[in-house]
Amino acid sequence: MSGFSFGTQLIYVLAASCFVLGLHLMNSPATARRGNQFSTAGMVIAVATTFALIIHAGVITATGWIVMLVGALIGGGAGLYAARTVRMTAMPQLVSMFNAVGGGAAALVAIHDYIHVAAAVTGVGESTTITTLLDVIIGSVTFSGSIIAAGKLQGLITSAPVTFPGARVVNALLAALALGAGGYVISTPSLAALWIVIAASLAFGIAMVMPIGGADMPVVISLLNALTGTAVAMAGFVIGNWALIIAGALVGASGGILTKLMADAMNRSIGNIIVGGFGTGDTGAPVVPGAGAGVRSISADDAAIQLAYASKVIIVPGYGLAAAQAQHEVADLADVLESHGVDVSYAIHPVAGRMPGHMNVLLAEANVPYPLLKEMDDINPEFPRADVALVIGANDVTNPAARRPGNAISGMPILNVDQAKSIIVIKRSMGHGYAGIDNELYTNPKTSMYFSDAKTALTELTAAVKTLVG
Ligand code: NDP
Repeated sequence: MSGFSFGTQLIYVLAASCFVLGLHLMNSPATARRGNQFSTAGMVIAVATTFALIIHAGVITATGWIVMLVGALIGGGAGLYAARTVRMTAMPQLVSMFNAVGGGAAALVAIHDYIHVAAAVTGVGESTTITTLLDVIIGSVTFSGSIIAAGKLQGLITSAPVTFPGARVVNALLAALALGAGGYVISTPSLAALWIVIAASLAFGIAMVMPIGGADMPVVISLLNALTGTAVAMAGFVIGNWALIIAGALVGASGGILTKLMADAMNRSIGNIIVGGFGTGDTGAPVVPGAGAGVRSISADDAAIQLAYASKVIIVPGYGLAAAQAQHEVADLADVLESHGVDVSYAIHPVAGRMPGHMNVLLAEANVPYPLLKEMDDINPEFPRADVALVIGANDVTNPAARRPGNAISGMPILNVDQAKSIIVIKRSMGHGYAGIDNELYTNPKTSMYFSDAKTALTELTAAVKTLVG
């Protein structure tokens, strides 16, 4: 190995260290921004080193340079624009599109490599071919699957599960075709068989994601993210680039862990989510007006009295807070209560909302201080001491039915809201949450329902509290 080559490998290790450190810093919202900066620095170092390697090898023509730089400018510009302008609620679709281009690019690297190698030599080294094939298959599945997932979340494709009789057989046949043709490519170099692998993998990606309900999509996107990382790592093996192998492996592993954590927090297996048919999205949930038997409703003034005279209030945000975009209003209410001497904290359930970290991101947008956000295991012991648990647009994550077997959320860890001394729930109706089941909390004698849109309710509540506390 030449000195130059050794030096570049060392710099790749430095880039990889930045990725690892960056991931570690992303563990906490307080250091996440710095984590992002470290990871970006790692990527800049890796890309610059790769350019240095290319220049040193002198293998690229002037046209090649123009194509590469124009491509990087267009891709980088589009990515920068999308990331800067995206609304927080549209983040899952953006991540999905990034997965699609990541998987697609990784697959193209392998396809180019195969065509190049197959054209240059008659026999193909077996190990190269296996990683090349895995790259083509995983990258193609991720590309088409991620585009369908983004389309579902954006409402361009129906978010309801799309199934038909024999759908699973079709999926199995497509998988068998991709693997079978892949096996043939290994034994007999053949471009025609490679095209079959690509076509079958693309079709499998579509067939895999279509039956999955819109609300399950964040878990699927996390899974596709893990697959993108794996495809990128394979691309690293194909072209012998350590930075790609390490970065891809990190994305693959962290995406896999996140997928597992999300599935566990919903008490579902990843297989159950992939099989689909659960969680038909939010469009199907009707708004059921009014209170039923055993349900007590409350006005803004009465709710304000409870809050103003409490010494400890725990706010429980959920999907409805995000849907109503009421993060600033809840922060205002908390400010007023705190300045009146009330101890306020926020209970954050790992799957509240519709994407990982949804509530953290939402409340950070309203500048709610991080120390006030408490994770489920930390806040649960505090509920018995809370005078009021104020539930805002959260439903499933508070449903005591989860403690019993035999329903859609059985076994899902929940926030122990029912242990608070009194409970106020803000939502528009008795309508269901994502899991589509009744919430037993609403008929608890300690619970008062404040039927309203979260934004309107919080504005009214803040005004009423201000009147009380002067
Ligand atoms: P839920 O989906 O259980 O309930 C949300 C509630 O918000 C609804 O009952 C709805 O009631 C209310 N709501 C909707 N719009 C408004 C509004 N404008 N103002 C006031 N209330 C409103 O939410 P949770 O956060 O409790 O639970 C999340 C669920 O999503 C869990 O089941 C979780 O498993 C699932 N999930 C989470 C993912 C994640 O990554 N976070 C990913 C995929 C699924 P009403 O119509 O009566 O107003």
